[in-house]
Amino acid sequence: MTALLPWQQSQWDHIVKRIQQDTMPHALLLNGAEGIGKQRFAEHLAAAITCQSSIADAPCGVCKSCSLQQAGTHPDIILITPEEKGKAIKIDAIRDLIEMSGKTTQNGKQRVVIISPAEAMNRAAANALLKTLEEPVPSTQILMVTHALKRLPATILSRCQRLDFRQIPNEMASEWLESQLDASLASQALAFTGGAPLLALEQSERVAAASERLQNLLQVAQRAANPVSIAENWSGEENSIVFDDLSRIFADLTRYLATGVEDFRYLPDSSSTYLQIAAVCEQDALFRFIDEMQTLRMKQAHNLNAQMMYEKLIVSWLALTRPRKAS
Ligand SMILES: [Zn+2]
Repeated sequence: MTALLPWQQSQWDHIVKRIQQDTMPHALLLNGAEGIGKQRFAEHLAAAITCQSSIADAPCGVCKSCSLQQAGTHPDIILITPEEKGKAIKIDAIRDLIEMSGKTTQNGKQRVVIISPAEAMNRAAANALLKTLEEPVPSTQILMVTHALKRLPATILSRCQRLDFRQIPNEMASEWLESQLDASLASQALAFTGGAPLLALEQSERVAAASERLQNLLQVAQRAANPVSIAENWSGEENSIVFDDLSRIFADLTRYLATGVEDFRYLPDSSSTYLQIAAVCEQDALFRFIDEMQTLRMKQAHNLNAQMMYEKLIVSWLALTRPRKAS
């Protein structure tokens, strides 16, 4: 059973009321930060809508429809996601959906379509979906999931109702994550993902590598490591992971240099490393490095040689940092 997460009760109560009053919007947009369980909520809702029992406020979990949902093989629950993580949802997927919506459902109930993440739709896909939103089919419930509302076209936004998912209280997030992970890792992973428990569960293995990356930046600044071997090491990982790590690290460093407050949110256990780095670079240098990093990140699709890209980046970092002379 795709269980409701403990912090989703108020959103669930709201939706149950809408279903009972028969005022469910044709298209619902589940909006909130990445990794807080919006897609799980959509799946739970899909199960409830297609469930064959008469329980009003939750899927029964035992009927044929619920079993198919749990197995991920329900013919009337359609999940549209990019073929590969980080890639676009293309028009073909939306065309299939339009074609299907003309047909009757397998069990006489509604068909539920989950589009996740909705902002991954390319322009052609979004335009095709727009037609469906303009001429709703009563037997089809559309659930869109997004963590980047601003990237959705205004025309789409104006045709669906929003259900917002807010930041989860830290205590609730920790309690849930500690039921899945060792407590110390749970706390590090939760910090690393900015308090998003499902993302923390997915990325918990990445905390150690990110701490090492922070350490690498210090070693380079201290002229204690060879940029070429660090670049080699980094190029063994997916580019998006390396850039995500660096973005988090530099967000922490920028905040510290601007405020002087030792609030290292993403890797709090590495505060001494952050402080040593902050001691050898100026705020201007940080901004220049961040610019360079963003430019390289945008160009990475065209840049086939990751090793060379990281060498360039690390050498820039070397040039922007000035180790203090021992006095
Ligand atoms: Zn059921």
